[in-house]
Amino acid sequence: MNSEFDVIVVGGGIAGLTAGLVSARLGRRTLIHTSELLGGHLLSIEKIEGYPGHPDGIAGYELCPLAQGQAADAGAEFAMSRVEALSPEGGMWRLVTARGNYAARAVIVATGTELKELGVPGEMLLRGKGVSHCASCDAPLLSGKPVVAVGGGDSALQEALTLAEHASKVTVLHRGERSTAQQSFRERVAAHPRIELRPSTEVVEILGKDAVDGVRVRGLSGGGAGNGTGDLETAAVFVYIGLRPSSALLTDRVSLDSTGRIPVDAQMRTQLRGIFGAGTVRSGAAGRAVAAAGDGTAAAIAADRFLDDSAWPD
Ligand SMILES: Cc1cc2nc3c(=O)[nH]c(=O)nc-3n(C[C@H](O)[C@H](O)[C@H](O)COP(=O)(O)OP(=O)(O)OC[C@H]3O[C@@H](n4cnc5c(N)ncnc54)[C@H](O)[C@@H]3O)c2cc1C
Repeated sequence: MNSEFDVIVVGGGIAGLTAGLVSARLGRRTLIHTSELLGGHLLSIEKIEGYPGHPDGIAGYELCPLAQGQAADAGAEFAMSRVEALSPEGGMWRLVTARGNYAARAVIVATGTELKELGVPGEMLLRGKGVSHCASCDAPLLSGKPVVAVGGGDSALQEALTLAEHASKVTVLHRGERSTAQQSFRERVAAHPRIELRPSTEVVEILGKDAVDGVRVRGLSGGGAGNGTGDLETAAVFVYIGLRPSSALLTDRVSLDSTGRIPVDAQMRTQLRGIFGAGTVRSGAAGRAVAAAGDGTAAAIAADRFLDDSAWPD
């Protein structure tokens, strides 16, 4: 593969796939680089909600391959490797990966986020043995068993609803006094006979030898759960306690905002000439799939103008 492109998109989530689609449709030789299966977080979501045109939701495993195929049909190329570094060289940006180096005049960083870990004993040891971030992948294996979801936001409650389709009981543990999720998720969870919300509760250890068989929890001071520690039987623990932006590529080159995200203007331009940000890695991102796709569109159009426009401001 010739390793020089007009536009390189880093990240194959919905922001990156859309940026690649739009850039290729604009006639730019475009490469989408991604470190994992194309689709990012959406790929593992059983029912993506709030995506226009899909009033009953759509599964990530349906939407993501469609977006990938659409970008490929438009002419976008793909490379499956993690971009390790980004540096300016001779009027281009050089990208370093384990499979070789690539260059482009415009780069769209759409590297998204990673789910945070709890950081408690047992978590790393039992990862893949009951500790999971993917409800749709693992829920069918847990039919008729009790499971725990950790977190009080949209992701935790949405995934609790997916888990409840298979598990005998889903206990949602969260540290806050009340859930911060959207009202529709809170209402559906409250009405669900197999989901129990336990606020003011934190997980202090994940228990089990070869597989998860429980969690040790502590009630937080001031919460209804009291201050005691106790064990809860569970076959799996699903962790949704927040997101960490994957902005390492630009850490040394731009001032990230207080959440670690990349500041951009309305056209998705960063402080660096020829570098654009899109999706949940950019400052002020709305955190919804359709917004990430919109960012990808805006970034691709801005990159196209940048490549055309000799009068592009410094
Ligand atoms: C559990 C959960 C449920 C959700 N449900 C919904 C929903 O119902 N509706 C909705 O609208 N939104 C939902 N969201 C939010 C939605 O997933 C995000 O808004 C969307 O995925 C953001 O897309 P993105 O492309 O910006 O980032 P991501 O999806 O995070 O994709 C980023 C991609 O970049 C890759 N990458 C990272 N670093 C590098 C690198 N250095 N080199 C190469 N590749 C790299 C990653 O591997 C990943 O594939 C949910 C999120 C979660 C976590």
